[in-house]
Amino acid sequence: MSEWESVIGLEIHAQLATKSKIFSGASTAFGAEPNTQACAVDLGLPGVLPVLNREAVSMAIRFGVAIEAEIDHYSVFARKNYFYPDLPKGYQISQYELPIVGRGHVFISPAEGEHKEIGITRAHLEEDAGKSIHDQFPDMSGIDLNRAGTPLLEIVSEPDMRSAKEAVAYARKIHSLVRYLEICDGNMQEGSFRCDANVSIRRRGDDKLGTRTELKNINSFRFLERAINFEIERQIDLLEDGDSVVQETRLYDAERDETRSMRSKEEANDYRYFPDPDLLPVAIRETDIEDIRASLPELPEQKKQRYIEDLGLSDYNAELLTANRETALYFETALAVVPKQCGLLANWILGDLTGALNKAGIEIGASPVTPEMLAQLVVRIADNTISGKIAKEVFEAMWQGEGDVDGIIEARGLKQITDSGAIEALIDEVIANNPDQVEQFRAGKEKVLGFFVGQVMKQSQGKANPGQVNAMLREKLKT
Ligand code: ADP
Ligand code: MG
Repeated sequence: MSEWESVIGLEIHAQLATKSKIFSGASTAFGAEPNTQACAVDLGLPGVLPVLNREAVSMAIRFGVAIEAEIDHYSVFARKNYFYPDLPKGYQISQYELPIVGRGHVFISPAEGEHKEIGITRAHLEEDAGKSIHDQFPDMSGIDLNRAGTPLLEIVSEPDMRSAKEAVAYARKIHSLVRYLEICDGNMQEGSFRCDANVSIRRRGDDKLGTRTELKNINSFRFLERAINFEIERQIDLLEDGDSVVQETRLYDAERDETRSMRSKEEANDYRYFPDPDLLPVAIRETDIEDIRASLPELPEQKKQRYIEDLGLSDYNAELLTANRETALYFETALAVVPKQCGLLANWILGDLTGALNKAGIEIGASPVTPEMLAQLVVRIADNTISGKIAKEVFEAMWQGEGDVDGIIEARGLKQITDSGAIEALIDEVIANNPDQVEQFRAGKEKVLGFFVGQVMKQSQGKANPGQVNAMLREKLKT
């Protein structure tokens, strides 16, 4: 074990899925022509007044309730002042001392059997800035202000993570949660879900935190893991060479798989935060919070517990099946067809289906094998029409679009042989062809049974019922 311990805290920006902006009526839809969705309020032109979007507040509360946080009944918007071309009004409306969502927590499971609680310091509402475009005009940068004023929930974790793997598990947990709650579409490529990682190291056993750097420009979980690991190594090299870590913001370059310095880290007082005089404080009634609590869907943690207690699934399988909303929906849709085959179904989803999805790089919602088709496959395994091995062939054929389960079994002649007469004929043939092995078995070498089962299965092209073959072989070989 290394003498260094890494410490990681994440700041996650989740774009809230409201139709209009946080302080104006302009649309938040992604992908429009540049600068067609930024109105006078988003640009902060003189004389305009922002009006708070109620839905954004409600979504922030949904999140707060889901992480069992304290919801502040009184919260205030503040101006964070800085200059940047994509922020023409010179300040970002954010929250500072009084955020809507206070301390909460989530549980992560970074590996099978591992559980850890991660603290969430706060979550606050703020508006997004515009975007600078550097790759479209030679010698010039473009500015697209469509994103200006889009509502964001900034979720700040405690520095509770100790490895890149834990950080990824935490980020995935938050990603899953905001999608279960339907407050964010989670699209990382489009920037609707962005993670900044704060990384420091210290000698194992030290209480004091080391100097941290903040990593930006990370747009996938894979890059999050790589960026953090690169940064941990870089900091260890510095300290071991007797240098020190500079507190700064660093940009992750996915192509080179490295981080590089972007700017020195600013302190909060550089921003001259002050309460926004154009906006009233937000007062939230307890009854509003209660109404929102009552309207929450079943959350991943509750779902997981239900899968374990009511369905008898293992902790790990329950964790994987509830890790995202689409997988849970797939599982539950299929389970409605085969309520008694829960374990078998879970294995197929987490095994062959997940493998095929990963290989093809597609999401479960776009799987060519629908939950109904997979359920039908499980029905045919359970009623002994096909063996588990043949089922893999049927699955592959369904994946390739050859039709439904029964159609494929019929067309390819895969029906399991359960007719004892037919199996007996195969067994007799195998016994007749292998007198030496028969001799060995009768002399007490039990292991040879496996050889016979294998031969009979081979003769039947995998279609004989293995249980039946086993039982009948034992009978025959005895005599
Ligand atoms: P800022 O607003 O300047 O970015 P915060 O104090 O709000 O700073 O912290 C931002 C994030 O950095 C939090 O997620 C926090 O857990 C994390 N963090 C703070 N100090 C450290 C540290 N020494 N090492 C790793 N992460 C840290
Ligand atoms: Mg920060």
